[in-house]
Amino acid sequence: MSPVEQVSGIFDTILVLDFGSQYSHLITRRLREFNIYAEMLPCTQKIAELSWKPKGVILSGGPYSVYADDAPHVDPAVFDLNVPILGICYGMQELAWINGRKVGRGEKREYGPATLNVLDQASPLFKGVDHSTVWMSHGDKLNGLPDGFKTIATSDNSPYCGIVHESKPIYGIQFHPEVTHSTHGKQLLKNFAVDLCHANQNWTMENFIETEIQRIRDLVGPTAEVIGAVSGGVDSTVASKLMTEAIGDRFHAILVDNGVLRLNEAANVKKILTDGLGIDLTVVDASAEFLGNLKGVTDPEKKRKIIGHTFIHVFEREAARITPKDGQEIQFLLQGTLYPDVIESISFKGPSQTIKTHHNVGGLLDNMKLKLIEPLRELFKDEVRHLGELLGISHELVWRHPFPGPGLAIRVLGEVTEAQVAIARNADSIYIEEIRNAGLYDKISQAFACLLPVKSVGVMGDQRTYEQVIALRAIETTDFMTADWYPFEHSFLKKVASRIVNEVDGVARVTYDITSKPPATVEWE
Ligand code: GLN
Repeated sequence: MSPVEQVSGIFDTILVLDFGSQYSHLITRRLREFNIYAEMLPCTQKIAELSWKPKGVILSGGPYSVYADDAPHVDPAVFDLNVPILGICYGMQELAWINGRKVGRGEKREYGPATLNVLDQASPLFKGVDHSTVWMSHGDKLNGLPDGFKTIATSDNSPYCGIVHESKPIYGIQFHPEVTHSTHGKQLLKNFAVDLCHANQNWTMENFIETEIQRIRDLVGPTAEVIGAVSGGVDSTVASKLMTEAIGDRFHAILVDNGVLRLNEAANVKKILTDGLGIDLTVVDASAEFLGNLKGVTDPEKKRKIIGHTFIHVFEREAARITPKDGQEIQFLLQGTLYPDVIESISFKGPSQTIKTHHNVGGLLDNMKLKLIEPLRELFKDEVRHLGELLGISHELVWRHPFPGPGLAIRVLGEVTEAQVAIARNADSIYIEEIRNAGLYDKISQAFACLLPVKSVGVMGDQRTYEQVIALRAIETTDFMTADWYPFEHSFLKKVASRIVNEVDGVARVTYDITSKPPATVEWE
């Protein structure tokens, strides 16, 4: 085992081998919901290369057909681990393929609900799930029982809905327990992890804080220094607070004011992080530099690139100015990467696997010769929020809506100037204030105001006006992949529109964006 243990070496871990199903990450999520640590790795993972031993292994579903030439297969060494194994859909077909090649194309695809009929009432896997609705999503099927297995459950269309090895704890199920349409799926996964694998239910954020602080100390060592950028968002704040708990003022946070932050943002972040959370924070006002570089640029992609490059430049310059007290060099860069980003980069996508790299961080690591430290890389967003609350970060910050890196630069459509940013910023501040006053902030996933570079005629105090337009956006979503617009009361919209036109110079009209994603995106640029 490496000197700095992985979370999977500290907590009992269920290994999820991913065959590329769109649901694979949900298996991990569900297990963690009842406090069992689960980690997903690609199905091609060599078992000998693991530095830890799982308590059990789940083989996920996947889009391939096990009998196809290019189908992925599990490392046979998984069966030598002598731990319980559960194959889900493709995972079960893989078990059947290995044990007698008994898989073929079904007459028709089966997609949707089915009723589980448990034959072996004593089976620990099916405790409390008999007659429940299970979710099917497959086109292939078992042609017969794999060698050495017996049937323990059926459904109307699947004679081999649940199977188990005659003498080993190796199970296969045709349906997907990880999706909520399988009404008792969570119970089944719990039966597997707790009753069959005997995994400890000790994965809590309380326990994580303790082990993570120790892990950070071991990794950084007694003298090295760490820097990191903060944005005022939940991820970077939680990561910074955790670093400060672990190594005190050997962690240095930098907030770059890029001139396109929200109203009073830099001052507010400074107050919360420094006074409230005791984090060593330097605020750098680089507004003029960013706005100078953005001058005359209207293309959204160009704006994003300019902001990214300017950020790297400013950050490097400011980091060089931070000279740690004892003359120690800065060796690490903190990054608030979350588990979904990790999953995105490791999940099995077949022959054309693509790895996403974060441009800003990549550049900094290379140029500054830093090592990356990512204390949140095992956590889902809800776990990060819970962790933040345990670390004493306010509810308001922990539940803050996401804010894009390029900030208001992509909410001021067209050219970004100081005057245009001020209009968008003031309108946004009024809008968010009213959302909070109405008690709606936590019900909405993301809300903001955009400034549209079109002029429109109005009348104010008997004077003709000819000013710009503000578009308000508010969406509800669980994953930001799809989103719907929020159905505000008319009276609410009326109040916000009236305040914005009256209080923000340069605005003649307010509109509300009623487009869902898709076809629109959340942001306007
Ligand atoms: N591709 C396989 C099938 O169609 C497995 C599907 C799955 O795992 N959901 O049967």
